[in-house]
Amino acid sequence: MKYCPSCHTEYQDSATTCADCQVPLVDFVPFCKRCDGDISESDVFCPHCGVLLTERITDEDDVPECEDHPSQPAIGMCVVCGKPICRDSIQQVAGKFFCRDDSHVKLYHDYALLYRTSTEYEAAMIKANLEGAGIPVRVFSQSDHVYFVTMGDLAVVNIMVPKTRIHEAQEQLNNLLSSQSPFGDEAGKPGEEKQGGDEG
Ligand SMILES: [Zn+2]
Ligand SMILES: [Zn+2]
Ligand SMILES: [Zn+2]
Ligand SMILES: [Zn+2]
Repeated sequence: MKYCPSCHTEYQDSATTCADCQVPLVDFVPFCKRCDGDISESDVFCPHCGVLLTERITDEDDVPECEDHPSQPAIGMCVVCGKPICRDSIQQVAGKFFCRDDSHVKLYHDYALLYRTSTEYEAAMIKANLEGAGIPVRVFSQSDHVYFVTMGDLAVVNIMVPKTRIHEAQEQLNNLLSSQSPFGDEAGKPGEEKQGGDEG
């Protein structure tokens, strides 16, 4: 069986080009059967929804193990940090798989919400800083309201980064904001640092 990587149509093995798209066919399934997102030949997990692509696992021993519970087989990966997770570890939000630590991350397609601000100026400053660190940035504001009708208030500028770079971007942003604190409180501490690990 061959497939068009563009329109996902199935073809006979003898075909070479998609009649509709005029692109060369590939001999692997180029889309996720769960979310219909594009996947590449080397993917073991769907990069869009996180599901384990079981049809690509030929040997049961090749099933990745859950990073939280090493004896349990993973059924997906966290779409943010990429770690393999089992049935017990998975948090599902809007059809995508997350680990417990990342289930709060707000996604729009393959971008994650990093920060919201009310000023275009601050957004531009943050964008420049992150791009300086090599992290691609997309900024959505009221004028792009079509993207955010479901995300609550529109009187804000949303700064988004590719979902797999969110942790890196958060660190970069924290450094930036702490070095530019407008309050200059020398005695106070940020108070946002928490030690995780209170497991039930
Ligand atoms: Zn096609
Ligand atoms: Zn998928
Ligand atoms: Zn994660
Ligand atoms: Zn687990």
